[in-house]
Amino acid sequence: MIENSMFEEEPDVVDLAKEPCLHPLEPDEVEYEPRGSRLLVRGLGEHELDEDEEDYESSAKLLGMSFMNRSSGLRNSAAGYRQSPDGTCSIPSARTMVICAFVIVVAISVIMVIYLLPKCTFTKEGCHKKNQSMGLIQPVATNGKLFPWAQNRLPTAIKPLRYELNIHPNLTSMTFRGSVTISVQALQATWKIILHSTGHNISRVTFMPAVSSQEKQVEVLEYPFHEQIAIVAPEALLEGHNYTLKIEFSANISRSYYGFYGISYTDESKEKKYFAATQFEPLAARSAFPCFDEPAFKATFIIRIIRDSQHSALSNMPKKSSIVMEDGLIQDEFFESVKMSTYLVAFIVGEMKNLSQDLNGTLVSIYAVPEKINQVHHALDTTVKLLEFYQNYFEIQYPLKKLDLVAIPDFEAGAMENWGLITFREETLLYDNNTSSVADRKLVTKIIAHELAHQWFGNLVTMQWWNDLWLNEGFATFMEYFSLEKIFEELSSYEDFLDARFKTMKKDSLNSSHPISSSSIQSTEQIEEMFDSLSYFKGASLLLMLKTFLSEDVFQHVIVLYLHNHSYASIQSDDLWDSFNEVTNKTLDVKKMMKTWTLQKGFPLVTVQRKGKELVIQQERLFVNMKPEIQPSDASCLWHIPVSYITDRKQYSQYQSVSFLDKKSGVINLTEEVQWVKVNVNMSGYYMVHYANEDWEALIKQLKTNPYVLSDKDRANLINNIFELAGIGKMPLQRAFDLIDYLGNETHTAPITEALFQTGRIYNLLEKLGHMDLAARLVTRVFKLLQNQIQQQTWSDEGTPSMRELRSVLLEFACTYSQENCRTTAMKLFEDWMVSNGTHSLPTDVMTTVFKVGSKTEKGWSFLLSIYYTVSSEAEKNKILEALASSDDVRKLYWLMKSSLDGDIIQTQKLSFIIRTVGRRFPGHLLAWDFVKENWNKLVQKFHLGSYTIQSIVAASTHLFSTKAHLSEVRAFFENESETTFRLRCVQEALEVIQLNIQWMEKNLNTLTLWL
Ligand SMILES: [Zn+2]
Repeated sequence: MIENSMFEEEPDVVDLAKEPCLHPLEPDEVEYEPRGSRLLVRGLGEHELDEDEEDYESSAKLLGMSFMNRSSGLRNSAAGYRQSPDGTCSIPSARTMVICAFVIVVAISVIMVIYLLPKCTFTKEGCHKKNQSMGLIQPVATNGKLFPWAQNRLPTAIKPLRYELNIHPNLTSMTFRGSVTISVQALQATWKIILHSTGHNISRVTFMPAVSSQEKQVEVLEYPFHEQIAIVAPEALLEGHNYTLKIEFSANISRSYYGFYGISYTDESKEKKYFAATQFEPLAARSAFPCFDEPAFKATFIIRIIRDSQHSALSNMPKKSSIVMEDGLIQDEFFESVKMSTYLVAFIVGEMKNLSQDLNGTLVSIYAVPEKINQVHHALDTTVKLLEFYQNYFEIQYPLKKLDLVAIPDFEAGAMENWGLITFREETLLYDNNTSSVADRKLVTKIIAHELAHQWFGNLVTMQWWNDLWLNEGFATFMEYFSLEKIFEELSSYEDFLDARFKTMKKDSLNSSHPISSSSIQSTEQIEEMFDSLSYFKGASLLLMLKTFLSEDVFQHVIVLYLHNHSYASIQSDDLWDSFNEVTNKTLDVKKMMKTWTLQKGFPLVTVQRKGKELVIQQERLFVNMKPEIQPSDASCLWHIPVSYITDRKQYSQYQSVSFLDKKSGVINLTEEVQWVKVNVNMSGYYMVHYANEDWEALIKQLKTNPYVLSDKDRANLINNIFELAGIGKMPLQRAFDLIDYLGNETHTAPITEALFQTGRIYNLLEKLGHMDLAARLVTRVFKLLQNQIQQQTWSDEGTPSMRELRSVLLEFACTYSQENCRTTAMKLFEDWMVSNGTHSLPTDVMTTVFKVGSKTEKGWSFLLSIYYTVSSEAEKNKILEALASSDDVRKLYWLMKSSLDGDIIQTQKLSFIIRTVGRRFPGHLLAWDFVKENWNKLVQKFHLGSYTIQSIVAASTHLFSTKAHLSEVRAFFENESETTFRLRCVQEALEVIQLNIQWMEKNLNTLTLWL
């Protein structure tokens, strides 16, 4: 999956002081509750209870209940390396391991005593009789009977082999009927079959051993709290034997974007149309049909859909047959699928057209609603090229006979990689020659590349559990950039990847960050929260570092081996590292190295200092927040870092020297005296670099004399590092501005966009606090630096993609910050466009800027809105929407957010984008937060708690607050919502960001006032 807006700009974060990794927030802000042995009877009507499953386990142990703990093996195997669940520093030496083992044994003993004692033991009141008499912990099913399974994860005694699924949706009544026949195998003798199901009205369940033809109706127990049902078999299931289970059910078609969901839209002739699609990842297959809904339970699927004749139906596999039924309805049956996880199952019903092309026996098709079929050509060409590239690169053929890519009229995520039936937003798949910009072209290409890579990484080889989501998403993200660089080099996608790495490290430097491979993922919200930019971009960044370090050939060799070894299976991170070690053959222990990156949150700050011919290097964890009263406890933080560097004597064309730092400090022999050294070449390593004063000095001097001896990636990297370091007080802010003084000579996109981003977020904070004069001075300074480049821009779509993107950025900057010439030209273009009634074509790369300037007048805004209703290009719609949401009129902004929440005029899928745009600018930033507060329940209902959309909305509406009053308000709001809400990582991150903003202002405001 790729989340919507993940590919867009992350909210600004301003950081400053430090805080050690062990304290996510101030200690007094977090209340740690000793775990008691509360014995609960839980069941119907108690779903609001929020304790985690360990409560069951501990209590169950007390009662001597036997549990098949399928996750324990996984946990134990990782225990040697895995540190605290929040990923604070690890990877001990052997000696440390022994000491640690002893300490852990003692600690566990103490914890067990505390754990097993009643909670009340440690309270002033002591234990009341009530506690002692509470019942046993045993889940109770909806019918009042005991439910025979107490864990979140399913037991492993039963394995599904094959599903036959029949679905009959009614798109007008928004209901569906279905039946699923599941062939299962007993891996252990058992009486019960536990599987997932939620929201179903189950009418009949039958059970049949494979050796018999006698179906027996059996009872089903439902336990909604864990979204599970239990089928108690009439006879013991014997190890190694197969059985068949048939479940008949009905349910509502979902009105959210999750599960089997329905939408309506108006076509070009203003007729209302219905459409239904699925989005199952991560946990919603269970809401469409009863199933073993965990990624490791792979099985095959035969799917049959009953539909009206005017609709088409699609599923993962090619269609096998269509039968006209007595009532005129049509039943489509699809071929049996390959073995796959439930979250990859998909089906779609609606009016669609397609364009297809055969590629060596695989029929590639792009589907869209009929009136948009002329926008699918770019996607088809791109898909065919990428599919061919991946098949060659992975040395494994795409295994299905068809691959459909479908633009869904209303879709929450960016796209979803369902095997053989990839679903997209319209804006991420369709390309309109007249209105799609170069950025839109890149977006569509990247997302197709991402989802196609998943057909191998994720679909063919799947993570066993969501804690290793990065194996899916990190790889798909890495391959997305890698494949683009190989076959669409002209798009310069490396610039986007570089930018994504900067933003990811920003997020990863917060205490609310997490290790990308975490052992403690269990609850629905925890699983949802794994879908954040760290799993995607940190994962991809680590793979880039490894590829650069090991060489491209070795990397490819490993990938091929890994995919071949684990096809149709489920894996953990260790399986990947084992493949690496098999290829590196003990010359490098990749597993040991990479665990320092995947099991720890954060990343290292590498400090370097030249001493004669030597370079002294040190590593420490980069802390963004250090309160003086809390000293950092980072002694155990250690990464195995490939430290690459270039100097004025050893440059790119010769070779990039690499040294391996697996200790706190080391020395690199440069072999000769050099004038400057730049460490972390092309920023291919996931770390930040701080130089000694004179080394910074030498680099700044080099940039001013001839910046082009350094690559554009390195120039952007220096700008990023120096501003981030200034942010945490390691450099004076003046030095950062001193470094970007060379920008007048800069011709490349990446360094300029990074400089604009860094200065832009300072501007944003100053403006929101009302320091208008200072903000204006900042803009003047930046404008002076870039005035030559701005003046050189034409209002056209000419040039390379990179030049075109630079044009968008520069003209947007100039027009936003009141550069008169810019606004006059934009207004003239807008007026001509308005006179032509929106038919006159505008240069696509500057369209947003033109619309934004035009939207400042009442007439312009209303005209844009009227056009929004009529255009069929999502690319154009988004540009209009961004302009509408950049209005200075708060009533208009409120109306936009409200309309999008209602979903009639503006689709709800656009809401997070609108909130983000509104929240960024001065007129709307308070309003956006008010809106989020007012509508929190509706938002959570629509997008569900923990989802990427909710993460994005929380960040967008709070990230520019920098006062204590706002900090208290945001905290109080989420605290009052619920404990689960308050504990969400995005909420903790929002609070941390506000704190850091406050500190940044305290530290820098006076200095800025004095010298800017
Ligand atoms: Zn993905």
